[in-house]
Amino acid sequence: MENHIKTLHGLPDEVIFCKRCVINNQRPSTSREFVKKDSKIDTVGFGEDGICDACKWFEEKKSIDWSNREKQLKELCDRFRRNDGTYDVIVPSSGGKDSFFVAHQLKYKYGMNPLTVTWAPHRYTDVGWQNFQSMIDAGFDNILITPNGKIHGMLTRLAFENLVNPFQPFIIGQKNVAPRIALQYGVQLIMYGENHAEAHNKIGENYSPLMNIEHFTRESDEADLYFGGVHIKDLPQFGIEDKDLFLYKPLLADPIRKAGIEVHYYSFYYNWSPQENYYYAMEHSHFKPNPDGRSEGTYSKFASLDDKIDGQHYFTMFTKFGQGRAMNDACRDIRDGFITREEAVELLNKYDGEFPKKYFQEFLDYTGLTEERYWEVIDNARSPHLWHKVDGKWELKHKAQ
Ligand SMILES: [Zn+2]
Repeated sequence: MENHIKTLHGLPDEVIFCKRCVINNQRPSTSREFVKKDSKIDTVGFGEDGICDACKWFEEKKSIDWSNREKQLKELCDRFRRNDGTYDVIVPSSGGKDSFFVAHQLKYKYGMNPLTVTWAPHRYTDVGWQNFQSMIDAGFDNILITPNGKIHGMLTRLAFENLVNPFQPFIIGQKNVAPRIALQYGVQLIMYGENHAEAHNKIGENYSPLMNIEHFTRESDEADLYFGGVHIKDLPQFGIEDKDLFLYKPLLADPIRKAGIEVHYYSFYYNWSPQENYYYAMEHSHFKPNPDGRSEGTYSKFASLDDKIDGQHYFTMFTKFGQGRAMNDACRDIRDGFITREEAVELLNKYDGEFPKKYFQEFLDYTGLTEERYWEVIDNARSPHLWHKVDGKWELKHKAQ
């Protein structure tokens, strides 16, 4: 009977788990950017063989000739390297281990002159701020851009209430920040770390080192834009004027093309491993892992540490798709060969969906939500094909076995 149960968010009504990792077919495949409330979500690809696209891609990656890719990276650096004292590459960076790795390699191994650019987290954690400072102390110039807290708080609230995706305004702003600085400083190369295609986007994007400029540009001023699920024309009723949206609006595509700006992914040129990047950051800076021993909602201690609101990002994912932070880490660790599928199932049972209580009050203060309204939004986002109540408590109907 479950095949006919109503689903929310446009999710597939049948839940299928990958046979290799622990992900299921409910996961969104693209980040939901300028979308309206109640837009349908694209979900990850699954083959007939019951293996998800990300696992297939990791298999395929094993046949890549990485020394040839490094040669391509050197050629890329030579094409953009400058010897006139100006910056020749921008590395978008929060101060986390991954962007540290990219900036450090480009500067000290390949002789580039990077400028690191940071779109501030909603609220830096202590360890996140220390790691950010450690990155700068390890030899990098940095530009930190922090959005207006009043506007960012309201957009975060709208994104939570309308899309159950409180990170949407952060993600929108983050995408624009490096290309905008590149234009201002006349830098033509931007280097990101991992292509998120590897972590469940469209598999086809993995074959190119380049980010499509559609991800951060628009063709005209007239583009139909939604922020927090609200059309730009309707935002003034929430106290947000057009002039408040400078940091969020995608850039116009023409100046980016004319300036010859290219956005590349380091993971195209190098066999990317978050765990190795962590060891690298520890060795080459004063990078610290989570002082609590692990992050709420998972077993890992070195990823996504900067923002006090990170926990809410993963908890809302868990609410909408039944896939939390531990699921994210476990799938990656299975593919990288650090844990088995059986170990992953155990870790999910233990940690996935753990409520991020440490900074919960700060999230409420930041967004102006009441606790009552918070739970109303969360519970309304639980699709009946994924959730049911057992003894008065919400439980997932389907778990990885
Ligand atoms: Zn998989």
